[in-house]
Amino acid sequence: MLKEIILKLAKLSDEQLTNEVLHDVKKEVARKYNVTNLPTNIQLQKTYQQMVENWEIKPNDKLKFLLMKRKIRSLSGIVPIQVLTKPWPCPGKCIFCPNESIMPKSYISTEPGAQRALLNEFDPIKQTYNRLLSLQATGHNTDKIEMIVLWGSFDAYPMDYKIDFIKKLYDACNTFEDVKQQLQIDVTKPRESRFTIDLDKLDIRLSKSLEEAQKINENAKNRIIWLTIETRPDLVTEENIRFRRKLGVTRIEIGIQSTFDDVLKANKRWHTIEDVKKALHLIRKYGLKISAHMMPGLYKSNLGKDIESFKILYSDPYLKPDELKFYPTSVIPNTELYELYKKWEYKPITDEEIKTIVREVKTKIIPPYTRIKRLIRDIPSTEIVAGSNITNLRQLVMNELKQEIRTNQDLQNLMRKRLWGSDGLIETYIYMERSEECSEEVRRDKRVLCITDNQNSMTGNKAKNKVIVFYPVNPVKNSANPDLVCLCTRCREIRNLRSEEKKEVRRDDVLLVIRKYVSSVGDEYFISFETTDGYLIGFTRLLLPKDFADWEWLGENTAIIRELHVYGMQEKIWNKWKMAQHKWFGKKLMAVAEKIAQQNDYKKMSVISWVWVRWFYKKIGYELEGTYMTKKIN
Ligand code: SF4
Repeated sequence: MLKEIILKLAKLSDEQLTNEVLHDVKKEVARKYNVTNLPTNIQLQKTYQQMVENWEIKPNDKLKFLLMKRKIRSLSGIVPIQVLTKPWPCPGKCIFCPNESIMPKSYISTEPGAQRALLNEFDPIKQTYNRLLSLQATGHNTDKIEMIVLWGSFDAYPMDYKIDFIKKLYDACNTFEDVKQQLQIDVTKPRESRFTIDLDKLDIRLSKSLEEAQKINENAKNRIIWLTIETRPDLVTEENIRFRRKLGVTRIEIGIQSTFDDVLKANKRWHTIEDVKKALHLIRKYGLKISAHMMPGLYKSNLGKDIESFKILYSDPYLKPDELKFYPTSVIPNTELYELYKKWEYKPITDEEIKTIVREVKTKIIPPYTRIKRLIRDIPSTEIVAGSNITNLRQLVMNELKQEIRTNQDLQNLMRKRLWGSDGLIETYIYMERSEECSEEVRRDKRVLCITDNQNSMTGNKAKNKVIVFYPVNPVKNSANPDLVCLCTRCREIRNLRSEEKKEVRRDDVLLVIRKYVSSVGDEYFISFETTDGYLIGFTRLLLPKDFADWEWLGENTAIIRELHVYGMQEKIWNKWKMAQHKWFGKKLMAVAEKIAQQNDYKKMSVISWVWVRWFYKKIGYELEGTYMTKKIN
């Protein structure tokens, strides 16, 4: 029966392969075989993969995508894998933090990811195999991995353990394809993520050192392109940032929670906002990406302070994180906060208050260069005694806002102005090309980027000399987008554009946009390709440091690319652009970043990149220096 469904679907065109048609085909075939329970997508995905392997059908990307479980996991082109380290105490004593002796600090054994780690005895190889197997079985490509290592506080663990753990993550990715046939686990069974792996039964060849494991990963099928670790602000030092870079870390998750010292103190965070600023400054100097955790509803905070905290977060040049995790405070048993709650000394944040904060943050505070990664922590409701318990918070707030914006002209204008306008915090420019010589006079105009090589032309125009001018945007001229109620990069990802609209996107509808803002380290440029109504195709983060890291491959006059990301296009939505354009966008974004750095007298570009993307940078003239890809640009 499963094969029959796949065969029927394989005959349909891309346009016909929709969820409704899938459901109808399932029903039709199930009726024929008198089966009451419809097959799941995961069962069909497995059948599809077997049929492709046996040459019974041709590979069909659209069909594979249709059957994919939790498509969102790889829609941005990269699959996230979360792993946990073994239980270990944290120097922090935060009053809200769960404390289970069998878990690393701050994690609860019933959280889905934590449960998987516990069942796999916190072994990095078992956890990685487990996730890779599940992801592949559900139709996801695992060739680009974002490895997220969760361990309350990275720096609290012994050095040997940290190195060994990270090395084994690379080993696991390097060896997975060789051993996966031996794993023989039926992931189509319910609760597939709970299975454990017996390493003793497998023949695995581990590398001798971290460096060797990293080198092998450069050409492995499953490559780690981003590596994230968690830590506390007061544990960040110059020395341990350099150590992290050697491990291959590209992003730091860091708990800020509030920007008010009295709130931090009342919650026994044992660090101040000054510590946070120093930590973020250091992390940024080395080009790493910053993902901040904020907790509205803490003890001794209130609605006004919580909103103010977010305003400070995005106006203070020492803060301005690239990503945000929004974790409203919940009361969990076995915490000091629970004791305060029982004595009526702590009043948990209400759902309405949370919604108000999210609304304020989304519509008035979040700048277009930030990604809101999470709006609620995935704690099972059975573990929450009081406080927030809305698991679909993002959806709820977004639905309400989307309804409102359609009839609220003021809100539409506000979003348009914030997306395209310039204020005291951010300057926005769009690219326009002029056919004129790059004379000295023109070069002196700071808004102008001279491109004298037609290879670098943004439009493919063959004229020899190009002058590229970034003009301040007139927001009124750009279209209002009634679907855009949050400017974060996640909400603006191209995948959020409706399918029928995606087909209409033509080259002329794509803008090259530059948003400039100031951080404590220097000038930051968020350079992006976007549709005229603000959907993101790809972007890069360029930093021109004024306070530079005195390190061999960084140093004076070195500009830094902190991130380059072109979104995956698995749906093949671009009728004219297709996948080949993926590299084109990346190259153009890099060309513009280099021009901006040159024009500001920077001599060298250093890119924080991990192994998978090194080949790309090599192609555009970069070479490996230490843990950065570098190129002389002046
Ligand atoms: S720093 Fe993080 S892990 Fe440590 S106690 Fe505080 S919340 Fe928990």
